[in-house]
Amino acid sequence: MKIVLDHLTKKFPSRNKKSSDEVIAVNDFTFEIPDGKLVGLLGPSGCGKSTTLNLICGLQMPTSGKIFFGDDDVTKLPPENRGVGLVFQNYALYPHLTVRQNIRFPLENLKGDKKLSKEEMNKKVEEAAHLVQLDGLLERKPKEMSGGQQQRVAIARALVKMPRVLLLDEPLSNLDARLRLQTREEIRRIQKETGITTIFVTHDQEEAMSISDMIVVMKDGIIQQIDKPQEVYDDPVNLFVAKFLGTPAINVFKGKVEGGKLYIGEDAVLDVPGVEDRKVYIGVRPEGFIPDEDGPLHCHLNAIEVMGRDVSVVSTNEACENTVIRSIIPSDSAVTPKDGVVRFSLKPYKVFMFDAETEKRIEYPAK
Ligand code: ATP
Repeated sequence: MKIVLDHLTKKFPSRNKKSSDEVIAVNDFTFEIPDGKLVGLLGPSGCGKSTTLNLICGLQMPTSGKIFFGDDDVTKLPPENRGVGLVFQNYALYPHLTVRQNIRFPLENLKGDKKLSKEEMNKKVEEAAHLVQLDGLLERKPKEMSGGQQQRVAIARALVKMPRVLLLDEPLSNLDARLRLQTREEIRRIQKETGITTIFVTHDQEEAMSISDMIVVMKDGIIQQIDKPQEVYDDPVNLFVAKFLGTPAINVFKGKVEGGKLYIGEDAVLDVPGVEDRKVYIGVRPEGFIPDEDGPLHCHLNAIEVMGRDVSVVSTNEACENTVIRSIIPSDSAVTPKDGVVRFSLKPYKVFMFDAETEKRIEYPAK
């Protein structure tokens, strides 16, 4: 089921009674989620992710704009008529019911010609439980299960009515690191197996990048960029997006363009022919540094951290906005500091320039 958001806007009155300013939680969202895809809504706290999800499922009404599921305008439909499955961070299972009863719950409220017999319900419950690999655990109570298993019960409960759209709001936040990893792979598998169009909300960029077909990066209720995760990483439209994606984070320097050259401090690090003279921010991905005794960029070496296949060279430079510069280089490359200074050349396609005022990306021919 394709989902289309058409100039969707949600405004809230200010929470501060003395202020008349309203909060625009979702500001003119227009985009299409293709049928059967998993889309990650990604952004820092307060950027409007949950509000977007609530608008799509019908828990909140938009101030303006429309929502379509396929060709159906669902903007005014109540949540129960939209055919959405919802999963939240806190599982929201009924503690006194067994797993079977929890998963069966949405089926028990079906009315009219949708009403199911007990056998039909049990069959659907068992199919959903099988999909999330909970066979054999159906008679347990939620408290007898791990966090990851409980979240799988919540997913089975959302899937049992075969929703047109599955919405997941920070579904992994309550799980420990290992379970998060396992459960996110599980969600991806289930989504692929069912082919249900899925929207996944998270503030964790690594999580969103690893399982999404497409990510929507948001800030202050405004969409910054929509694309495949790798495209957004390789081609960020502005400094915010560049900083938001990637671990370790991108290294940001203050610099300038002068006479077709890009400068970090006094070091002319790249040729950027055709770019006007101006002040810029320069973002260099950690994998964009090449140790090079004759390289143009000088940094003061702090430490070399061994990570196995790669090493992380930790250094500083007066023009760098981050506390330290982290460059990730293959462990077989030699790093030969002289008097505590290590020199690098830079891979041009890992270097991004942003206008110092607008923070928008400046394209240059080397890319
Ligand atoms: P988080 O990751 O912290 O859940 P989020 O990205 O999901 O954040 P939202 O919960 O959608 O963000 O909130 C977006 C903005 O709208 C925030 O500034 C929030 O304070 C505001 N907001 C959300 N709900 C309401 C409400 N009912 N009344 C007033 N303001 C609200």
